Amino acid sequence: MYSKALGKLGIITIEDLLNYVPTRYKDLRKVSKIKELVPGEIASITGTVDEIKNVYTRFGKKIQIAQISDNSGSIQATWFNQTFLVNNLKKGTTCAISGKVDSFNNKVSFVSPDYEILTSNQTPLHSGRIVPIYPETAGVSSKWLRTKIDLSYKLLKDELIEFLPNDILLKRSLINYQKAIHQTHFPEKPGDELDGRKRLAFNELLFHNLRSLLRKRGRLSTKMSHELKVDKMVVEEFIANLPFKLTRSQKIAIDEVLSDLKKELPMNRLLEGDVGSGKTVVAAAAAFTTFINGYQSVFMAPTQILAEQHYKTLQSIFAKYKIRISLVTSSGVKEDFGTTDIYVGTHALIHKKVKFDKVALVIIDEQHRFGVEQREHLITLASQKKRLKGKIVVPNVLTMTATPIPRTVALTLYGDLDLSVLSELPKGRQTITTWIVPTKKRPQAYEWINTQIIKDKVQAFVICPLIDESDVETLISVKAATKEFENLKQVFSKQKVDILHGRQKASLKQEVLESFRNGKTDILISTPVVEVGIDVPNASIMVIEAAERYGLAQLHQLRGRVGRGTKKSYCLIFTNSNSENVKTRLSALTKNLSGFELSELDLQMRGPGELLGTRQHGFPELKIASWSDTELIKESRELAETIIKRQNDFRQLITKVTSQTAQIEPK
Ligand code: ADP
Ligand code: MG
Repeated sequence: MYSKALGKLGIITIEDLLNYVPTRYKDLRKVSKIKELVPGEIASITGTVDEIKNVYTRFGKKIQIAQISDNSGSIQATWFNQTFLVNNLKKGTTCAISGKVDSFNNKVSFVSPDYEILTSNQTPLHSGRIVPIYPETAGVSSKWLRTKIDLSYKLLKDELIEFLPNDILLKRSLINYQKAIHQTHFPEKPGDELDGRKRLAFNELLFHNLRSLLRKRGRLSTKMSHELKVDKMVVEEFIANLPFKLTRSQKIAIDEVLSDLKKELPMNRLLEGDVGSGKTVVAAAAAFTTFINGYQSVFMAPTQILAEQHYKTLQSIFAKYKIRISLVTSSGVKEDFGTTDIYVGTHALIHKKVKFDKVALVIIDEQHRFGVEQREHLITLASQKKRLKGKIVVPNVLTMTATPIPRTVALTLYGDLDLSVLSELPKGRQTITTWIVPTKKRPQAYEWINTQIIKDKVQAFVICPLIDESDVETLISVKAATKEFENLKQVFSKQKVDILHGRQKASLKQEVLESFRNGKTDILISTPVVEVGIDVPNASIMVIEAAERYGLAQLHQLRGRVGRGTKKSYCLIFTNSNSENVKTRLSALTKNLSGFELSELDLQMRGPGELLGTRQHGFPELKIASWSDTELIKESRELAETIIKRQNDFRQLITKVTSQTAQIEPK
């Protein structure tokens, strides 16, 4: 009967239950004398029930009133609508009561306190100690959980066998597993629970890392990819033909990608790089190599606008070569030739029944914008139907993201991926001057923008508030943007103002963007969703409304839409929030920090959920540890790698991990 409710809390086995950690604790160790209780305080007493009765109010409510005494005095306790109490807390029962001392009907009284019946042969669970409070769900209360956890611990404690060698525990100041469970649920002194929780968090991260490393090994042993030849001369020539010199980290990333492509083992690599760091050209180098080998590439982007932009970029990069590129979006397949070498498109690539004959490379841009299923689906479509040497033939996969996460966190978070990082921006990029504009200075800010547009012929973006936290464009956000559009048309009456949002027809979006790109539109208002990856070098002013709703990393990404050309660029941040925390957070943007530094700050100040855009698809949720525990993540990753290398010494642990795999796999 409870299994469904427990399932909701992620508790399936008894061991899960024992690993279910409290959100906080109440220190109920101090037992007060009744005589000394003062209204307003939160206190615990133990005493005997002298009397208890149900009282009916004029309005038909039922109140339970008890009189409880210890050797110093007597006090009243009242509850509402809990008629069963009269049978539970019978006269003469010894009990502990804890809660707020208040006045009720002019009498000093505990109002709706917690209670526990005390018996001589059992230590109290809900009182007289540091009492854990658990995350609850309908039907499962903290009190119920405490009882069951106590029972389970007593039953199972000898089976909570330590699975890590002592020296490893010592080195990392971790306590023994059984002790950790005990201290988490039954701390004897403040601080016990921290040590307990640290160990359990470490376990969680370690298992997470072990599972992904094992998954990687599994993938490598059952799957293979097309082996590509990499002709250094040809690649160098391609690179020499680019309109710019590659940065050092672009060169390294291309080397890493190409050396993956040479192998029979399928590539599964994440390319992480700040906005504007030049990820596209790395992907292009991979697609180029794939083409030279006579295979196809598929390049998927999250929005139509971005797909079109990539289509154009690739067309221009590959102008010298006979590479046939098709654009596949929900508005159709733009394909003028019999066969395609590179398919560029949105998730329409999955549904449009395009002919994936010989795909050897799948590129997924802004990978965090896709669900795991979407990514998997595309990869499956691009896989070969026939097996080779008994293995499934899958494409090489390159995913890209501008979400700057520290390396170890990324490795743990994204499981079995290899990682390449673009750690620098191309030379000559301007730093963007960022201002936080107080509400009362809004008119001046508008005037300043107006002057800039007239004087320097620049263009501006205005990003309207993020309304749905899950990053989904709702009708409300479209409405808000439309309203802002009407407003700004008045404010900037001499300029051409336009609007872009996700609910527009694809052809209209294209038109709007095109006229912004070629300078006909001065100010482009848009919802936050459509903006990803737009590259308009002449736009040098970015206005962000309601900035407090974004994570720093997101703001940094939005800001990265400007500062791409030669013009001095600015970002104007508006917020109505007066919170000190928000101010501190936003002011970090005015300092000249990299995306990595900002996201680290974000992790500390907001927690990782927000950093990644709260309910991001496919990110495994941590129950005990936190994605901001960078140190613990790093240690667990290192240990997981050692364990995989020394498997024979850790048989038991690996069996434990693999037997859990099924239930914890990300959705
Ligand atoms: P992102 O990593 O944000 O996807 P893009 O690939 O869109 O970045 O590149 C941003 C801009 O920088 C593009 O206009 C691209 O042509 C240009 N670019 C890329 N690499 C270099 C480089 N090494 N030097 C100069 N410009 C570059
Ligand atoms: Mg990009």
